[in-house]
Amino acid sequence: MLTLYDVAVIGGGFAGVVAARDLSAEGYAVVLCEARDRIGGRTYTGKAFGRSVEFGGTYAHWTQPYVWRELQRYGIGLSTPPETGTVHWLADGLVHSGTPAEYAGIGGPLVARYMADARARIPQPFDLTTADTSAIEKETLGDRLDALHLCAHDRDVLDGMLAPLVHSYSEQGLAQFLLWAATTFGDWGAFLETAGTWPVEGGTKRLLDAITGESKAELRLSTPVTAIEDDGTGVTVTTRENEHIAARHAVVALPLNTLSDVTITPPVAPPVRTLIDQKHPMRTSKIWARVRGEIAPFAAGAPIGKHPVNAARTEYRHDGDTLVVCFCSDASAIDGGDREAVQRALRTFVPGIEVVDTACHDWVSDEFAQGTWAHHRPGNLTRAVPLMREPHGRIRFAGGDIAAIAVGGIDGAIETGAEAARAIARALAAED
Ligand SMILES: Cc1cc2nc3c(=O)[nH]c(=O)nc-3n(C[C@H](O)[C@H](O)[C@H](O)COP(=O)(O)OP(=O)(O)OC[C@H]3O[C@@H](n4cnc5c(N)ncnc54)[C@H](O)[C@@H]3O)c2cc1C
Repeated sequence: MLTLYDVAVIGGGFAGVVAARDLSAEGYAVVLCEARDRIGGRTYTGKAFGRSVEFGGTYAHWTQPYVWRELQRYGIGLSTPPETGTVHWLADGLVHSGTPAEYAGIGGPLVARYMADARARIPQPFDLTTADTSAIEKETLGDRLDALHLCAHDRDVLDGMLAPLVHSYSEQGLAQFLLWAATTFGDWGAFLETAGTWPVEGGTKRLLDAITGESKAELRLSTPVTAIEDDGTGVTVTTRENEHIAARHAVVALPLNTLSDVTITPPVAPPVRTLIDQKHPMRTSKIWARVRGEIAPFAAGAPIGKHPVNAARTEYRHDGDTLVVCFCSDASAIDGGDREAVQRALRTFVPGIEVVDTACHDWVSDEFAQGTWAHHRPGNLTRAVPLMREPHGRIRFAGGDIAAIAVGGIDGAIETGAEAARAIARALAAED
């Protein structure tokens, strides 16, 4: 006999596991369908160089309310960030070097100009409807860069500072950058500290395992879903194996870029359809390089299109060697498995550096991600994205890609998973 679940949650990243835990804690029968043979999605604590490394989302912060609450709930802290050391930056065809303070002294004012209107444009980051975002929603990151009319050197410095978060200046909307800046008081340095400095102690898997350990939901791994149909009285989820799972409601916590592979009935509203079909443009990569010896700490930055590695930083000591994390704006510009290519790229900044091994996960060709974190195209952040957070009959969408505040991050994934769970619990209580 067909089991009728109260809720089917599709996708076992942070959004899905939190939704499943919270709904099952309310006593509802919940099934969580995850395509991969692991939970975590775009966070992935894997193995490389004989130790664990984070291939995807890594960093969290005490100013991120949703993830911080989860960390506190399970008694998990944050690891001490690495020392920065010398900074090398590529600008106007030359590599410049200095202390972090010297680099900040040159780049800081440029970033401040780039983001100067963040708080004025977005006075209440938690409610974008209170702001007139029509002008910034038309701008791309590239439009804003051009509008500053910088000399070649300054433009490269600014580009290199923004580059770890950019794949395409012409496709990414300015509004999301200004939202991020506005959430951290208009201070981009504060945003970077929040978004990319403090790793979850013991890895993101530790937090995910704690959440699923408390969950009473039935977890079905290796279960890709192909269709979700709401007939007005309930939801039927169809898996790739053509199994049908019946539930009263569904949470769809899938990456935005994978949603065009899933048939959703009834059809979503036209702006949401366009958002899904366009996909977000983030095709970046994160590469780990094991470097011989305990080298002096360094960080590096380079503008997009002028170097295959746009940000690099010494991150850990490991067995007498050093692990360097690299962020590449264009995943196709460098093969993360090509040790020599990564070594060549890093030698631009640190001549003689010896890369002994590399590791990375290809998120772009991963069919269950099809990109890294979301960055919305101009016009989508304040229109289609909020619309997608509205109920679609018995279906609720969730995920970091469509979060209201911490869009593109773990905190946003948890925010939307928890909100979807609350909304469905209310609907179920009303029905019962
Ligand atoms: C390289 C990289 C670095 C990042 N760094 C940070 C960081 O330091 N800090 C931060 O906050 N954020 C970071 N992010 C972003 C962060 O990882 C994501 O925003 C967040 O993990 C998204 O969670 P989610 O639950 O919304 O989606 P996901 O984690 O993508 O979960 C969605 C799940 O759906 C599953 N799925 C897909 N298709 C199907 C299907 N058809 N059927 C069933 N299941 C399916 C996937 O396998 C996946 O498990 C980074 C991301 C990447 C890729």
